[in-house]
Amino acid sequence: MRFAEIIGNDDTIADLRAMVDSDKIPHAMLISGPSGLGKMMAARAFISYLNCENRIDGDSCGVCPACRRIDAGNNPDIHYVYPVIKKTAGKPAFSTDFIDQWKLFIKDSPYMDTTKWPVMIEAGTKRPVIYVDEADAISAKAALSTYADRYKVFVIWLPERMNPEASNKLLKLIEEPYDDTLFIFVSNNPELLLPTVASRLRSLRMNPQPENTIVSALLKVGVSESSARQAARMAEGIPGKAFESLSGNGESAEFHRYFMDCMRNAYARKIDELKKTAETLSAFSREKAIRFLEYLARMTRENFIANLSISPLNNMTPDEESFSTRFAPFIHSGNVEKIVAETETAKRDISRNANAKLVWFDFLLRLMLHLRSPKN
Ligand SMILES: [Zn+2]
Repeated sequence: MRFAEIIGNDDTIADLRAMVDSDKIPHAMLISGPSGLGKMMAARAFISYLNCENRIDGDSCGVCPACRRIDAGNNPDIHYVYPVIKKTAGKPAFSTDFIDQWKLFIKDSPYMDTTKWPVMIEAGTKRPVIYVDEADAISAKAALSTYADRYKVFVIWLPERMNPEASNKLLKLIEEPYDDTLFIFVSNNPELLLPTVASRLRSLRMNPQPENTIVSALLKVGVSESSARQAARMAEGIPGKAFESLSGNGESAEFHRYFMDCMRNAYARKIDELKKTAETLSAFSREKAIRFLEYLARMTRENFIANLSISPLNNMTPDEESFSTRFAPFIHSGNVEKIVAETETAKRDISRNANAKLVWFDFLLRLMLHLRSPKN
């Protein structure tokens, strides 16, 4: 991974580069910001730059043995730590148990789509976390000398998924670090870190980027002008979202299929089909269910706007737009807010661990009534 592959956030990249150039490398740092900006890419580019045998123009070369080893995930001095699940209850669970999935994940999903990782480790409805056993494993590894490199690097993805016990164990290591140990925390929600831990980290922030920055980056990798503009418009400054919408197989494509199912069957009053849909949706993890409800609310509003024809620039993909040409007339001032309110109620119920199958079925029945309600 090279700095050149990161879209925007030039100041943060300059800071990372300067640490290596001036040989002032903090023992522990935090790269934070919303998901999809390329924070893990920045961490990986930093490590490559640190170890590269042939740096060129403030970047790693990408081809020397050191760069290649890092890109392949085969450098024994670089340790990735990430949330996992316990395959067997009561047995400890470590990141290394899922190393094959991890190598695939950072290669296929460099923007670290947090919705894909649980699927890759077959978490089902379990929430992946960083267990205290992992902190013990880090301590043990930190005490060993490096294999070949000057630094042992621990990259901790989503440190906010560590419980306080694990955080406190890690805190000891950060307070009294070994000379050759470097911690890089990569976090979407730094406010959830223990303050005692966060205060000891050199903090680097990454931010959403202007639409034009994303457009130029997409043009550079061969995306057509019109697709680049549309993807950048929907990305809301998040490069990872732009790539996801271009690939068309991300979660939003999946959500769109479910959205069409819900709306068609609710309008047609196919109760049996709605029951089946409720069953399918109840298998979503709590986080995914909430994201889908947010998607439902957003698409309901988008269709209302499309129906009013007040905005020629909507935020829909071509697939969503094509469904909307027929569906939008059914979302009007008489039901738009009612449907959005139902998504809020369902979100609340799901957060409270209510029976998901009942919550979804109830939601779909109410949707059925609202879709047929008269226009104001
Ligand atoms: Zn190199």
